[in-house]
This record gives sequence, structure tokens and C-alpha cells, in this order.
Amino acid sequence: MENLIRENLSEVKGTIQRAAQKSGRRADEIKLVAVSKTHPPEVLRQSLAAGARIFGENKVQEADRKISEIGRDKAAWHLIGHLQTNKARRAVKLFDVIHTLDSVELAERLERICIEEERSQLSVLVQIDLAGEATKNGVKENDLPNLAAFLQTCERLKFDGLMIIPPFYEDAEQVRPFFKRLRELRDEIIPNGELSMGMSHDFETAIEEGATFVRVGTAIFGQRHTQ
Ligand SMILES: *Cc1c(COP(=O)(O)O)cnc(C)c1O
Repeated sequence: MENLIRENLSEVKGTIQRAAQKSGRRADEIKLVAVSKTHPPEVLRQSLAAGARIFGENKVQEADRKISEIGRDKAAWHLIGHLQTNKARRAVKLFDVIHTLDSVELAERLERICIEEERSQLSVLVQIDLAGEATKNGVKENDLPNLAAFLQTCERLKFDGLMIIPPFYEDAEQVRPFFKRLRELRDEIIPNGELSMGMSHDFETAIEEGATFVRVGTAIFGQRHTQ
């Protein structure tokens, strides 16, 4: 498994490099989040040995178990799944970046917990729901200015950019308009902020459209057997 992960990582990094070059960007502007959800700590250890530095997890409890096995300081830990308010305190202790901030209420709570837990800074990205899909989380475009304004008043939360999980299309070209729109919003609201977009099947397109975080699971670890 370790060799496979090593090969896959090197292939993904190569693709990042080429996509960056193609769009006149520097490859080091693009950070790879290795999406390790559902995979056991052993696999994360192997990926660390193979050069992974940032892990993306979507569930607080699952991440908690893995982080205590691997070590909080051995990697950067990013939350990429929806955060329930009752898990916010745990999340503040576990994660370096939260990609899925999606309400003023959650922001208020995280800010308060950072103060209580004496965490001086927590990097957050706001998840945007551009497609208006009822099943997806994220703020609607219209509600973004309000949340952004609130974040400017926060002392501990550091508003670092935007994130999107677009609708799934086999053909990455169909996702491109979502990436373009997220970038426009970023340019309006938080110029030079991070853009967390692109997964295994569409991260090249996302990079062409300006992604600074790509979240790649399957292309590194293979198919997941559970959700
Ligand atoms: C699972 C997941 C990914 C990774 O998806 P792959 O298709 O396996 O690369 C990226 N982002 C989020 C939010 C996810 O939940």
C-alpha cells in the first residue's frame, strides 16, 4: 500500500504541476489536501512517509480517533465535512483549518470557543452553495456578505477564503462554471484569499480556475468502501 500511495501522490503532484504550468501559475501556490476520510491510521502513516502533509477529514469523531493515534503535530488537519454545532469545541481542538463554515451562528460559537480554549487563531473558509441544492450545506451567495462582515469583527477566526463542493458531473467541464463563479466571489469578498475547490476527478480544472487547496482522496488512496 505504501508504494501505491507514493506512486499516486507523485502522479497527483505531477498533474498539479502541469495544470499550474498550463494556467501560468506556480505549483507551490496549490496545496494538496489528502482526503483520508474512512482510511485507517496505518494508511495515514504510510502517506506521511510518502510525503503527504495535510489530511482532510469529514467527521469530527473519526478525525479525533485518528489524530490521537497519529499525533496532532505530525500533520496539518483540515475539516472538510459539515460541522455540527455540538462538535464545535472538539473541532477547535483538532483542526488547523475548517473549510466548511456555513453560518453566522457557527462562526459565533467557534469564536467564543477559541476565546474559552485560548486558541489565538483559527483559519476558516466559508463554504458556498452555488447550486442551491437542498441537500448540500453552505451559504447562499446572497448570504455571504453578511457572514463575511461578521467574520471581519472576529478576533480569533481568521477568514481565509472560500470553499465549494459543486454538484457531481462526470465531465469536469460542466463543473468549470462553479469554479469560475467561486473565484469571482473570492475576488470581490476576499481578494487573494484561498479557494478550496477540486476533487479527484476535476482538480485540474479547478487549478486552471484558481484553486489554492485541492481536496483529493480517491486518486491518492483508491476507492473508499464506506462513506
Ligand atoms: C470526500 C471528499 C473529497 C475527496 O473526494 P475524491 O473524489 O475522493 O477525491 C473532497 N472534498 C470533500 C468535501 C469530500 O467530502
